[in-house]
Formats: sequence, C-alpha cells, structure tokens
Amino acid sequence: MGAAAINVDTINQLTGGRLGTHDVPCPLCGPYKRAPKNQQRRVMRIYRIETGFAGYHCARCGEKGAALDRNGPRPDPSKLERAHAEAAERDRAHKAERLNKTRRLWSIRMPAAGTVAVGRNYRGWYIVMSLDSNGGNP
Ligand SMILES: [Zn+2]
Repeated sequence: MGAAAINVDTINQLTGGRLGTHDVPCPLCGPYKRAPKNQQRRVMRIYRIETGFAGYHCARCGEKGAALDRNGPRPDPSKLERAHAEAAERDRAHKAERLNKTRRLWSIRMPAAGTVAVGRNYRGWYIVMSLDSNGGNP
C-alpha cells in the first residue's frame, strides 16, 4: 500500500481512455516478474467510474487505492460506493484465497530433517543439507 504510483494518466493508459471495469496487467508488480506471461497477466482490476476517477486493486501484490483528477468533476457518490464495495469484496476474496493456500501448504508440510531441503533466495536456488531434528516444525 502506501504511495501508489498510479495516477489518472496511468489509469487512462491502462483503460485506453474507456470507462467501466477493466482487468489489466499491474504496472506496479508486473515489471518485477521475470516471465513475460506473468508481466502481462491481468491481475489488476480498475473501476473507472468517471473520466477523472478510478479505483483499483491488484490481486497479486494487493495494491489498492484510487486515482482522482482534482480538476475534474466530482464522482457520483452512489457509483463510488458501488465500486468501493466491489473492490473491498475482491480484496477480501483475495486475502481468503491466500490464507487457504497457506493453510493447505502448511497442512502438507513435512519434516526436512534427514532430507535435502531446497530453498530459493534472491541469488537463486540453494540447498540446505542438515536442519535441526524437527525441521523447524513445532
Ligand atoms: Zn500488482
């Protein structure tokens, strides 16, 4: 979250100047993906309810917010409320899905002791040959 780099100009580019709901590649996390397919994956949903106002939410990096053209007309409050509710629901569903995935992975965890544990950091793959007796599991 925080200072998002998404302004009305960016929204304009991503939506091709059109109003409505658009699923587009995320300009925030997309460029950091190695595979071109993932760079172009349409993970960001934009709710463009006025020319000068749009809400957005990325299902991958979780970035969300709104872009407002301060010189433009004020957005319609009822449209604003609907877009906000839809974005909040999408965010909730996204978080629930992540949590389920985490729980699923945790439920099938195995002790790493006596096995070769493979991990990955910013330099690439690495192998840990010995871990403590319970492999870090409680
Ligand atoms: Zn993103």
